[in-house]
Amino acid sequence: MEEAPSNVRHQNIDAGDFGAWLEKVQVSFLGTEGTVVPCGACRGCCTSSQFIHVRPRDTRTLAAIPKNLLVKAPGMTDGNMVLGFSADGSCPILLNGTCSIYEHRPQTCRDYDCRVFAAAGLDAGGQEKERINARVRAWRFTYSTERDLAAHDAVKAAARFIQNKRASFPGGRAPIAPGDIAVLAIKVRSVFSAPETARGAPAETATAIIRASREFEIYGRPP
Ligand code: SF4
Repeated sequence: MEEAPSNVRHQNIDAGDFGAWLEKVQVSFLGTEGTVVPCGACRGCCTSSQFIHVRPRDTRTLAAIPKNLLVKAPGMTDGNMVLGFSADGSCPILLNGTCSIYEHRPQTCRDYDCRVFAAAGLDAGGQEKERINARVRAWRFTYSTERDLAAHDAVKAAARFIQNKRASFPGGRAPIAPGDIAVLAIKVRSVFSAPETARGAPAETATAIIRASREFEIYGRPP
């Protein structure tokens, strides 16, 4: 990971126990519960030019946001909307550094946990995501067991593979966005708990990733 520029260098920040976090973040992937992120004064994800998906079931959010700030989500069914951002990259609902609809914020915001990038060893994106990247680089997990440490290594190995071996996937179809890579890496980490020599050729590893991802969708946890 590149060193943060000096103007955004942060001190280390406790990301919590990796094993406990992993359990919670997996549940959040099921889409009904978010994690509790110790954000402190950080507003990185609220000021980083993010498009926010507002789902039809986010009824309280839809009632709280002025209609002129929402547009229909491209390629999605009716009722799915997108909240854009202001010229400076800030969420238009963020007022004086505070979310003005916090109690009614959409599931997308409840689910956002920038520690997935730290877990996967990835930046959140380019220059426009620098505030998130600074936080990602500052997070430090702790480990209660060797198993947790090995699980973190497996997540990072999975992310590296997905990022660097796209051609190994059928049709080259593998996630490109860092957030998608990080989430998939967490879901399929069990593939990388085996030594590299036991995983076979890259195409076999890609097949195992696809299988593990499907199993996660069925069982809600890694195979
Ligand atoms: S970037 Fe991370 S720490 Fe900062 S506000 Fe967003 S989720 Fe919280």
